[in-house]
Amino acid sequence: MSLHGKHIIVTAGPTIEPIDPVRFISNHSSGKMGYALAEELARRGANVSLISGKTSLECPTGCVRTDVVTAEDMYREVMKRFPEADGAVMCAAVADYTPVHTSNSKIKKSDDEISIRLRKTKDIAAEAGKIKDGRLLVGFALETDNETDNARNKLQRKNLDFIVLNSLRDAGAGFATDTNKITIMYNAPGKVFHYPLDSKKIIAKHIADHIENWFCEQRPQPAPPAATITRKS
Ligand code: C5P
Repeated sequence: MSLHGKHIIVTAGPTIEPIDPVRFISNHSSGKMGYALAEELARRGANVSLISGKTSLECPTGCVRTDVVTAEDMYREVMKRFPEADGAVMCAAVADYTPVHTSNSKIKKSDDEISIRLRKTKDIAAEAGKIKDGRLLVGFALETDNETDNARNKLQRKNLDFIVLNSLRDAGAGFATDTNKITIMYNAPGKVFHYPLDSKKIIAKHIADHIENWFCEQRPQPAPPAATITRKS
């Protein structure tokens, strides 16, 4: 129960950005990695706030789940809770763009081509990174190329403590599978940890070990014994 008393936010699953009442922009995230991690952190004694996009998964034992739909909803929930939390792990696959206008009625089929204007969503991890003030902040990077450089860039830009990189080039890694293959990178030269392909439950344990270790290292160390001063008479 090494994370006892720690309040940790975990975001998981996809966000859904509505175009009209029947259509949306989203992605293939199943939420499995985030849910496995939320469960593992709760098993180690943490109070877990799971902020989840739409998934078919059950809320893991010991977690409190808040369901959200859009990136904006997820942003609001995270920013509301983060100041009271000890840390956040951003596992969610947040849409990078959302429609500028959502139609109230179903868009009718007429022209051969139509355009939907999109605007950037808020980067939740980066916004949390601006106010983290000693809290743990962990991000994920799902990459298809230039994996290490892209992940390192995100680590720095979002002010993360560490980033969990998975590559879609690795068989069995990424969305919708029950397995994953990760590399954990810190913002320090050479502090990179590679893990073999394994079930998301085992991968969650590796990530939880890093989280536990991070909190251990933050704990105030006992003061060294006072130096004895010997005076020459
Ligand atoms: O920039 P990219 O989307 O690849 O970054 C991935 C990381 O940032 C993940 O931890 C994801 O949860 C987080 N993220 C976020 N808000 C966004 C986009 C990504 O929190 N709008």
